[in-house]
Amino acid sequence: ENELLKKYIKLPSMSADGQSVEIAGNIGRPEDVDAVLENGGEGIGLFRTEFLYMDRDELPTEEEQFNAYKTVLTKMEGRPTVVRTLDIGGDKELPYLKLLTEMNPFLGYRAIRLCLEQAEIFRTQLRALLRASVYGNLKIMFPMIATLDEFRAAKALLFEEKQKLVVEGAAVSEQIEIGMMVEIPSAAVIADLFAQEADFLSIGTNDLIQYTLAADRMNERVSYLYQPYHPAVLRLIKMVIDAAHSNGKWVGMCGEMAGDEIAVPILLGLGLDEFSMSSSSILKTRSLLSKLSKEKLAELVEHVLMLKTSSEVEQHVKKFRI
Ligand code: PEP
Ligand code: MG
Repeated sequence: ENELLKKYIKLPSMSADGQSVEIAGNIGRPEDVDAVLENGGEGIGLFRTEFLYMDRDELPTEEEQFNAYKTVLTKMEGRPTVVRTLDIGGDKELPYLKLLTEMNPFLGYRAIRLCLEQAEIFRTQLRALLRASVYGNLKIMFPMIATLDEFRAAKALLFEEKQKLVVEGAAVSEQIEIGMMVEIPSAAVIADLFAQEADFLSIGTNDLIQYTLAADRMNERVSYLYQPYHPAVLRLIKMVIDAAHSNGKWVGMCGEMAGDEIAVPILLGLGLDEFSMSSSSILKTRSLLSKLSKEKLAELVEHVLMLKTSSEVEQHVKKFRI
């Protein structure tokens, strides 16, 4: 099977009726870029930057971060590279930040919430990213955005750091797209407002599902509620895709769902532009996409959106595929 998939390494990501999408990779370290490229990934849809901060005793310096981002951008040779700013807290802690223990860490002080309050940490990362931007096609994305105020505040800090760098005479790209993850239901519901102010949206289904169904993604006892095809999740995804497109923006997905074979036909039918996944899923997904007609999927999607439960959706898509 792997041999058969190899022919897809060099083929474009295109549906049977000639509609192109982008299949990108998710990475957690600079060395992961190799696997993305070996599998024919057309970009990086999610570079999780937490590794820079974890398993150590102090914050990473600007220089250290700059080097990591530069390495990734250089290896990607101009392909789109979406770097997500620090998403710490929740399940990922940093002992040296001395964060307080919280009753509900996934609903607590994490990601952009922490970055906006401990702005020096955030500014250092933003400067490193801005300085690295001239080495490739950088797109910056903020995690866990719940309100427009947060998105605006994060962008404002980015612009401040950019201005400072320009004054200092540093080279900074003028083409950096600035987007956000849609992984909190409030952001999905007002995606139309975000799409007016963001260059792109990326749906983070790992968290979006957990928050929509109020089912901890790490808790086995409620894993039966962690339902990617729940009608509420599908409706939210549709809202986000439609909101991006009515504002002329592109929209990706970087949660596990982007490489899920039941979800892929639905997502293609809904018009998702970029599918970002672990490297090992890229070829399988490209092969699947090449067999699907986006036109015909419009019907599938129309039907799927009327179904009432996750298992009805799953069964319907499985039937459609034979
Ligand atoms: C997500 O929430 O879907 C996501 C891609 O981010 P993470 O898995 O790092 O929370
Ligand atoms: Mg997330």
